Amino acid sequence: MLRHFDTLIELFEAFPTEQHAIDHLTAIRWRNGRFCPLCGNADGARIGTLTGSNTHKCYVCRQRFSIRVGTIFQDTKLPLRKWFVAIWLINAHPKGIASTTLAKDHEGWRDRQDGRHGNHGAPRRVAGRCGREHSHQQP
Ligand SMILES: [Zn+2]
Repeated sequence: MLRHFDTLIELFEAFPTEQHAIDHLTAIRWRNGRFCPLCGNADGARIGTLTGSNTHKCYVCRQRFSIRVGTIFQDTKLPLRKWFVAIWLINAHPKGIASTTLAKDHEGWRDRQDGRHGNHGAPRRVAGRCGREHSHQQP
């Protein structure tokens, strides 16, 4: 389920839309069955999905939630696809990637996604550097 992508092109092809990325995260999170991240209810029959949306509802605690709740993506509005690209870029550069490079790649990616190639001004500058050496995760 956790596929390896050799190139960014492969990643784009695997996730042509945001819904593909949401479906992928859903498949990973609920690979052992549905559960509520808010109350811990693990009875999948008591968790519904609102028609035509990515909003789920727990019939135990009566709360609604998205698949992002309880993940590192919870408090961000950045689309999952962009996160996947950022994660891929960081993993593709084992010695670290300058956040400015990440920002430039993001700008180029956004232009391609929008079907525009015009100049949107200078790439957004973000200070600092990010990479595996700063991560707390084990390889
Ligand atoms: Zn619940």
